[in-house]
Parts: sequence; structure tokens; C-alpha cells
Amino acid sequence: MQKISVIGAGTMGNGIAHVFAQNDYEVTLIDISQAALDKGLATIGKNLDRQVNKGKIDEAKKTATLGNITTATELSAAATSDLVVEAATENVDLKLKIFTQLAEVTPAETILASNTSSISITKIAAVTGRPDKVIGMHFMNPVPVMKLVEVIRGYDTSNAVLETTMELSRKLGKVPVEVNDYPGFVANRILMPMINEAIETLYEGVAGVEEIDTVMKLGMAHPMGPLQLADFIGLDVCLAILNVLHEGFGRPKYAPNPLLVNMVTAGHLGAKSGQGFYDYSHGTKELIVAPQFKK
Ligand code: NAD
Repeated sequence: MQKISVIGAGTMGNGIAHVFAQNDYEVTLIDISQAALDKGLATIGKNLDRQVNKGKIDEAKKTATLGNITTATELSAAATSDLVVEAATENVDLKLKIFTQLAEVTPAETILASNTSSISITKIAAVTGRPDKVIGMHFMNPVPVMKLVEVIRGYDTSNAVLETTMELSRKLGKVPVEVNDYPGFVANRILMPMINEAIETLYEGVAGVEEIDTVMKLGMAHPMGPLQLADFIGLDVCLAILNVLHEGFGRPKYAPNPLLVNMVTAGHLGAKSGQGFYDYSHGTKELIVAPQFKK
């Protein structure tokens, strides 16, 4: 396995490309948007500079890593890949379209992986005509730093493809964990109800934003409170995942809290939009004192 294509150059895609390239794989980074490719490459450059400044890699490694990445705007550029990792926008119709095309442009033995946070791998696999070769490779954000890869086995994923993906993740210096394909897998099935409950606690006026985050940081040794984490993940992403859990299991406990729905509807998506539970518009994290957040 030497040639890897990564679909999507956003938050996750550029991190995935970075990690493969740093481990000497030939990476083709593909996005429909040239601006996203330029931004993704710039982010990889900045993150490599940070690694150089911390003494983790030298300038030669940085140059070699960047030299291992080429970019393209057409999916056909994935044609000679041994593995494709899809990290495009979290939208089921889009992913089905991408995997239908990938199955057409790549050889039958190419492994097709998705970095989806919550969409069924079995559903994605069903449109490819080779469900045994389709698997979930769920990296965590920020990819160059976080050790976990949740490896999701679809209903028809073969043992050989599972083993290859586990081994490949180890070669990237990551720790793979095998899980089965049910809504939210393991990571988001546990994390999202906790975030939703934190929002519910705020919504009911039990405590304010900082109080809730402080209890979880200092009381449970979480590095970040759940509301700040929700801002970091993106409130739209949290809502989309909760909807997948709610629809997938049909249990009321996964229903997204109305405050989360309201905030997403109003365009308050967290750090990426400048405002969520905190305000990031001045480059720092500041508490928002809005009526709905008051105790
Ligand atoms: P993002 O919005 O930052 O990037 C998505 C990129 O996909 C964009 O650059 C967009 O131009 C590109 N894209 C859209 N349609 C495309 C197409 N047809 N072909 C090629 N590229 C296309 O999103 P993200 O946060 O990087 O998320 C990507 C995937 O990773 C999603 O499935 C998400 O659920 C998953 N994920 C996200 C996180 C996170 O913390 N953000 C963590 C784990 C997994």
C-alpha cells in the first residue's frame, strides 16, 4: 500500500493527508474547491512549522512531507490509489454520490474508507458493488495530534480489509479500535448524548455555561468542558450526529435539545462561525452573556 487519495481538504482531510504524507505515503488530496485545496495545503504547512519549532521534525522532513502531496479537483485523480479516505462534508447524499463515482474510477481491489462521524458504513458500501472493500476510518480532530482511529466494520467488510486498515493505522502511529457499524459508532454515541445533556442542563437553568464546563473539567478531568467542545466540533455537526442517533435508534433520549436546534438555525455554529456558547470573534474565547445562558 503506497498510494493514498484523500477526498476533501477541510478540517479533517488536510490532517489525514498530513499524517499519511509524513509517513512516506504518496498522497493525492482531492477537493471540488481549489480554494479549499490551497487553504488545506497552507494549514498543513503551518502545522508542519509547529512540529519543526517544537523540535519534533526537522526542515528536511517538512519538505519531504509537502513533496509527498499533490492536489486535484477531480475524483478521477484517485484512479491509481491503493486506498481512498473520504473526508468530504457530512451529508449522506453527497457521500453516496462520491462512493458511487469512486467505485467506477478505482480498480476493484482499492479499499474505500470513509471518515464519516456517524453515517452508516453499510449504507455507503451498498452503492459501491464491492461492500467487502468498504470500511470506516474515523480519525479524530486534530488528526496529527490525536492517537485514536475508530475503525468501523460495515456489515459486509471483509476480515482482510479490516486487518489491512488496522495495520495501516498502526503504521501512521495511531491506535486503531475496531467497532461495529451502528449509529454514532462508539465515540459519538457516547460523546453526543453527554454534550446534549450539558446543553439540556443549561437550557433548564441548572447552571451557566462556565459553571457546566468547569464542573466537567475539574470534576471529571476532561481537558475541555462539553459546551466548549461542542463549539470546537461545530454545533451543526453535533446536531447532524444527534439526528442520526435519534433516527437510527428511534429513542427519545437522543432527541437534540431545542436550544441546540435554535443556535444552529440562527447560524451560531461555534468557533468556526465566531459564536456558539462562547464568543471567538476577537480571537479569544469569551463567555457570552445572553438571556438564554443566564442562570
Ligand atoms: P469541512 O467542511 O471542513 O471539509 C469538507 C470538505 O469537503 C470541503 O473542503 C469541501 O469543499 C469538500 N467537498 C465537498 N463536496 C466534495 C466533493 N464532492 N468532492 C470533494 N470534496 C468535496 O468538514 P470536516 O470537518 O473536515 O469533515 C469531513 C468529514 O469528517 C465529515 O464526514 C465529518 O463528519 C468527519 N469528521 C469531522 C470531525 C471534526 O471534528 N470536524 C471529526 C471526525 C470526523
